[in-house]
Amino acid sequence: MRLSKYLLPTLREAPADADNISAKLMQRAGMIRKVASGIYDWLPVGLRVLRKVERIVREEMDAAGAQEVWLPVIQPKELWMQTGRWQVYGKELLRIEDRKGTEFCFAPTAEEVITDLVRREVRSWRQLPLCLYQIGLKFRDELRPRFGVMRAREFLMKDAYSFHLDDADATAYYDVMKRAYTNVFKRCGLDFRAVEAQAGAIGGSYSHEFMVLADTGEETIVTCTKCEYAANIERAECPAPSANGSSAAAMALQEVATPGKTSVADVAALLKERPENFIKTQLYMNDGRPVMALVRGDHELNEAKLGAALGGGTLDRASEEQYQRIAGCPVGFAGPVNLPRWKTPDGKMVEVRLLADHALKPIANGVSGANKADLHLKNINPGRDYTPEAFVDLRQALLEDPCPRCGGTTAFKKGIEVGHVFKLGTKYSTALKAEYLDKEQKAQPMVMGCYGIGVSRVVAAAIEQGHDDDGIKWPAAIAPFTAGIVPVENDDAEVMAAATKLYDELNAAGIETLIDERAERPGVRFKDMDLVGIPHRFVVSKKTLPTAEAEYKQRGAKETARWPLGEAVARLKTQLGK
Ligand code: ATP
Ligand code: MG
Repeated sequence: MRLSKYLLPTLREAPADADNISAKLMQRAGMIRKVASGIYDWLPVGLRVLRKVERIVREEMDAAGAQEVWLPVIQPKELWMQTGRWQVYGKELLRIEDRKGTEFCFAPTAEEVITDLVRREVRSWRQLPLCLYQIGLKFRDELRPRFGVMRAREFLMKDAYSFHLDDADATAYYDVMKRAYTNVFKRCGLDFRAVEAQAGAIGGSYSHEFMVLADTGEETIVTCTKCEYAANIERAECPAPSANGSSAAAMALQEVATPGKTSVADVAALLKERPENFIKTQLYMNDGRPVMALVRGDHELNEAKLGAALGGGTLDRASEEQYQRIAGCPVGFAGPVNLPRWKTPDGKMVEVRLLADHALKPIANGVSGANKADLHLKNINPGRDYTPEAFVDLRQALLEDPCPRCGGTTAFKKGIEVGHVFKLGTKYSTALKAEYLDKEQKAQPMVMGCYGIGVSRVVAAAIEQGHDDDGIKWPAAIAPFTAGIVPVENDDAEVMAAATKLYDELNAAGIETLIDERAERPGVRFKDMDLVGIPHRFVVSKKTLPTAEAEYKQRGAKETARWPLGEAVARLKTQLGK
C-alpha cells in the first residue's frame, strides 16, 4: 500500500474521551473513529487487523467442524417472547418497531434465531450433531460503553451454536470448542487463560471464559499458584467454614442505639465489636420480589453468586424508598430478625426471601440492623433469631482464601474477556421446541452449546497487551502490514526508485508492505510507522544507497542493521520463517 493514497489519518494526540490505552492508540493510529457513544467507524488499517482476527477464527471454527451461516441482525420480538428473554434481557436489548408497528430487536446474540432455524430444518437423530456459526454485528445497549471497541454498543462477534443428541455428546464437543478457542488465541499471539465462569444471562450449566491477561483488564481472575485452577472472581468458590455452628452460649437479643452509624466499620467502632461478628445485610429486588442477602461484616457480597443462588431473574439493589417499604428503616439499619412481610402489588403478604453466606453459620451473638432507624441488634443467633432459605456461598473471594481445588495459595490477575464457551443444556431447545426424533421415533429435545468470541474486542485486547510509548506492537499474525518502507528523500528519483523496487519485491513475495512516500518530514513518518506498529521497517536514503543497502529495524528493537537491498526480501523471509 502506498501511504500517500491510503486513508491513514494518524493523530499526535488521542481524543480527550479515549479512556484506555487501546482506545487511544486505535484512534491515534487511524484504525477507528468514534461516531457516537460505543459506535465506531473502522478505517482501512483497522479493518485489516479485524479481518485477520476474523480469518483465524473462521479457520479454527471450520477445523472444529462448524458450518458458517449468516443470521439476521433484526430479529422478531415473537421469538424472544418464546424464550422469555424479551423481558429478561432488560435495557441492553435495543428494541425497534417497523412501519406496521411490529416489534423487533437488534441482535445482542442469536440463540433464539438459530434454535428456530434448527427446529425447522433438523428432524432426525441422523442429522445431529450440528454446529453452526456466524461472524456478525451485534448490538448491546451497554449501560456504560467504554474503552473504545472493547466495550462498544455495536461490535463484531463470532457466535457458534451446537446441537447434540445427548449431554455426553455436547460435553465432548464443548472440549473440541475449548481447544479451537485455545488455537485461535494462540494463533493471534495472545497471552491468555481459560477460566471457570458464571453462566450469566444466557444460562446453562457449564462455562469457561477466555481471558487475555492485561493489567488494564476489567475482569479479576483468581488463579492458583500450585494447580491449574483459574476462575473469574464472579464465580471463584469460597470454601464453607469448617465449623458448622458455634459453641458460644446464645445471649438475649439486645437493641442498641447507633444514631447515624450505617457502616459496619462505624457501628463496630461504636459498639467495640469486631467486624467479623457482624451480619451485613443488603436488600435487592429479584423479579419484583424483595430479597435480603447476608454476608459476614468483613466480607463483600458477590452479586453474581446471589443471582445464581436465586435461580436467575432480574436483580436490582433496593432503593432508599424500597428499604423503607421492605424493612421499615433507612439503608444501614436493616437486619434479618423479625423481617416484616412484604405486600405484593396484588395485595398478597409474602415473606422476604432471605439468603445467607455460609460463613455466617458459626457466628453466635452477631450484630445487625434492627429494622428501625438508628438502632442495631446484638446477640443475633442463627436458628433462634433468623432462618435463611439456605446458607450458601455468596461472598467475593479474597486473596487470603485457599485454592478451592488443592488448598494452595491463590493469586489475582487482571484479564479481558475475549471469548466465552457455554454448555446450554436444553434451555433453548425446550423453550422453542427444537426436537429430533430418536431411533425409536420418539421426540427428544436437542442438547445445546454456545460459543462466542468478541472479534473486535480481540483487536483492542491485543493492543492492551502489546504496546510501548511509541505505539502499537502487534503480534505478527494480526499486524495490519508486515513490513514498511520509508524513503527518506522522497523527492529524490534514485531513492524513490530503490524504495519502490523493494516495495514491489516484498509484495511479490507475499509480504504485505506499506510504503510511506508522503510529503512529510522523515521523523513524522518514522513515528507513524511505530505508532501503527509495523513489525519490520526499512529505511532507504541517500546514505544507504551508495552501498546498495537499506536500514532494517524491527519494531521495538533498539538497534538498526544494514541489509543489502538485493538480499532484503530473502533475509526477511527467513526471519519470518517463510
Ligand atoms: P461482558 O461480561 O464483557 O459484558 P458478556 O458476558 O456479556 O461479556 P457474551 O455474551 O459471552 O459476553 O459475548 C461473547 C463475547 O463477545 C465476549 O466474550 C466478549 O469478547 C464479546 N463482547 C461482549 N460484549 C461486548 C461489547 N459490549 N463490546 C465488544 N465485545 C463484547
Ligand atoms: Mg455483557
